[in-house]
Amino acid sequence: MSTPRVAVIGSGVAGASTAFALAAGGAEVVVVDRVLRGQATAAGAGIIQPWSSGVDGPTYDLYAAGAAYYPQLLERLAAAGVSDIGYRVTGSLVVHADPARLDDVEERLRRRTAGVAVAGTVERLGERDARALFPPLAPALSAVFVSGGARVDGRRLRSGLLAGARRLGAVVLDAPARLVPASAGSWAVHTPGAEIDADVVVVAAGAWVNSVLEPLGHQLDVEPQRGQIAHLELEGRDTANWPSVLPPSSHYIVSFDAGRIVVGATRETGSGFDARITAGGTLEVLTNALTVAPGLASASLIETRVGLRPLAAEHGPYLGPVPGLPNLFLNAGFGPAGLTMAPVAGHALAQLVLAGSSDLDLSAFAPPGHRLSQ
Ligand SMILES: Cc1cc2nc3c(=O)[nH]c(=O)nc-3n(C[C@H](O)[C@H](O)[C@H](O)COP(=O)(O)OP(=O)(O)OC[C@H]3O[C@@H](n4cnc5c(N)ncnc54)[C@H](O)[C@@H]3O)c2cc1C
Repeated sequence: MSTPRVAVIGSGVAGASTAFALAAGGAEVVVVDRVLRGQATAAGAGIIQPWSSGVDGPTYDLYAAGAAYYPQLLERLAAAGVSDIGYRVTGSLVVHADPARLDDVEERLRRRTAGVAVAGTVERLGERDARALFPPLAPALSAVFVSGGARVDGRRLRSGLLAGARRLGAVVLDAPARLVPASAGSWAVHTPGAEIDADVVVVAAGAWVNSVLEPLGHQLDVEPQRGQIAHLELEGRDTANWPSVLPPSSHYIVSFDAGRIVVGATRETGSGFDARITAGGTLEVLTNALTVAPGLASASLIETRVGLRPLAAEHGPYLGPVPGLPNLFLNAGFGPAGLTMAPVAGHALAQLVLAGSSDLDLSAFAPPGHRLSQ
């Protein structure tokens, strides 16, 4: 194959990262996405801080590799003329009302960040020092601070990756895609306006991955998990450098420029593809946020977003060739951590497609051979 023609289905962070890396690697790339309601990338909070997480094994390794990859990603995007994706190292506060309950967190953070330059330093903070970093915080909370915690704007990340891919020659189409086998192991991607011939296809369709695979007789254990997340505004406050806040629950707070504070999120397993904002979801998100940070009570509620996380039941994400379907690759199933993991995973997957191997070992994420019964 001289210049491989690669079609990427889906342009959330998974598809956009893969397309950018494929285009940088010299492939002829076409990205197809109909931008469905509930795209996870457009709703993601954007916390890049894997080191305190309870995740272990190869999934943790990918999570940590994802955070470590960001500085390289910024360089690669800058080389393609993209300068701002809303990424900033702000630090991250893991908070708890009982300081003794932070001992394990501190130990885990110290162990995992030792020798990892991008993770920065780990520091134990009393309640006053924690509030000095994040003023709306409840008085009774102490914290462990990890200085390398970062945040990214998922929408700007996606549009930056797609802009970079376009500058490197990729074509981005706004259309629904249907995948059809063509001759000799190649593929045709059908859209209402065009039929795209491809030597290789990467399916990065997020929570919708099975709607692309099932017509080919294949299925994955990936389901949509709804996440509702609220955007608040503290008018006139310079919040750009405020750290993210992680309380003991799965909820969190992350700050952006110009007073924007994002609080979330629900984890609604079993939601199906119902991408509505609900009264109960909004109540849950705001109650959790104001318990941890009562100083946010007077903020304006400016927006609520909703995304369908592509949640893999067991071994996700799935990264690599699909058994029994030549020249078809998957990049899906990132669940709650795709804004961290997908850029490095997309880079590695592009290497796998173009060179047959990748710097990062993806073998733990090899897609299973789940054929649908006839
Ligand atoms: C509320 C919330 C908070 C989150 N917070 C964080 C966080 O703090 N840190 C973190 O690392 N991660 C976070 N995540 C997770 C992260 O956002 C997701 O893991 C990631 O965005 C998934 O990206 P994706 O590209 O796989 O899927 P998506 O972004 O959903 O993209 C899939 C795309 O495929 C397209 N598509 C599907 N089928 C077709 C078809 N047949 N034809 C054409 N196009 C198709 C869809 O239109 C969609 O655009 C959060 C997610 C949510 C919902």
